[in-house]
This record gives sequence, C-alpha cells and structure tokens, in this order.
Amino acid sequence: MHLSSTQKISLAALALGLLSFSKTQAQAVETPKPPKMVPEMTEFWEPEPRKVTPGVNNAAPSDAIVLFSGKDMAEWKAKAGGDTKWEVKNGAFTVGKGDISTKREFQDFQLHIEWSAPDEVKGTSQGRGNSGIFLQDRYEVQVLDSYNNRTYSNGQAGSIYKQFRPLVNAMNKPTEWNVYDIIYTAPRFKEDGSLFTPARVTVLHNGVLVQNNVELKGPTEYIGLPEYKAHGKAPISLQDHGNPVSYRNVWIREL
Ligand code: MG
Repeated sequence: MHLSSTQKISLAALALGLLSFSKTQAQAVETPKPPKMVPEMTEFWEPEPRKVTPGVNNAAPSDAIVLFSGKDMAEWKAKAGGDTKWEVKNGAFTVGKGDISTKREFQDFQLHIEWSAPDEVKGTSQGRGNSGIFLQDRYEVQVLDSYNNRTYSNGQAGSIYKQFRPLVNAMNKPTEWNVYDIIYTAPRFKEDGSLFTPARVTVLHNGVLVQNNVELKGPTEYIGLPEYKAHGKAPISLQDHGNPVSYRNVWIREL
C-alpha cells in the first residue's frame, strides 16, 4: 500500500497521540507518594512570643497597666464626674461616695484585683460587704462578704451577678484579703448593632476557678432579664453599695 506524505504524517500524529494518551492515563492512576513525615513539619518558629517578666507575689507583670499601686487614685475618676471620693490608706482604697471608673477604656483583658470585706461584720445577705467589679462598665463580677453569709447563689462572691453562681465558695475571712483574677473577652457586635459573639468570663477567686469561660447573657440587671446593646471599649467600674469594702493591687493586661 502506498501512502501519501499527508497520510504518513496523520498516522504518525495518531501514534503520538495514542502514546501520550496512555502515558497520561498511567500517571493518573499512579498514587502520589505522601511526603515523608518529619518532626520539623509541625514546628513553627514565627511569631516568637514576646518576653514578659512575671511579678512576684501577685505583683504586676512587666506588660501590665497598674491601675492602683497603693499610692493614689490617678487612674480612677468618679462616675458622676471629677475625682473619686474614695479614701486611700495603708496601700488600699476603700469604697466611698459614688461608683468609680478607670479613666482608661478596655476591650479584652486579664484583670488582677484584690479586695477585702469590711473587718466589722455587719448586715446579712446582699447587705454584707457588697461592692462589685463591672467589666466594661456593664458586666458585674460580684464582690460580697460570702464568708458564712448565705444569699442567692448567683449573687454571692465570685458570681456573675444574677447570671452565674460561682462553682465553689472560695471566700477568705473578713479580715483577710481576697484575690480575683479575671479573664475577659468582650462581646462583638454586627454592623446593625445585633450581637455577634457574647462576652466570656473566667474568674479565679483566691486561685480557685469559680467561673469557667461562661458566656454572659448580657449586661447585669438587678431586675429583669439582660439584653445586649452594642458598645465599644469601656472602663472598669467599681460599685459603691454603701459598704466599706477595700481594694488594693489592681493591674490589667490588655489582650
Ligand atoms: Mg455588688
């Protein structure tokens, strides 16, 4: 059989095509080899955590903002305006007239605050050594003399007032100091003002876990159910509930 040159070229092209086709097919069925696992594959070096010098005996770590070091109320103001009317004495300050707030505003943070119920045991239930720490000016971690003083569980020391009772009662005696370490994640809101993610709080009372990453239902309400309203950064506020509760060694780390 005689083939024209054009036919010869076509046949050659067909043969080449078949060849490359079978080659592609062969590659497709070949299982890719998994990379060889080595320890370094799961070791990440960047970013390197920055260095923080921890404080000794509850002192502020090197990156904390000191809100009260024992001397003055420079970081605080009266909520009603002007200077606070809370007395500083012996390295502590005591609840005076009116609520107070930090001058600075915060979002997510780690707060260390020490407090003492009045030495003189007076009153019962919510009337004994009542104050409170309002995170972002809205969400109260209750301060109360809960040493041999029954009240509603979600209103005792270490509670998120009227929302979550503390897991345990880790209260020290009225003449002793209590320590709160509070880890707070602020709520986030959508552009239309509705809630995106709720506030979350962890509280250690004298080193004992009393609130384990609870999701707050909204701002603290004395009467009725809480409802979130969009807000941004806000101060830490302390409550004047008419009882001479004292505070000392207050520092905060922004997260
Ligand atoms: Mg209170």
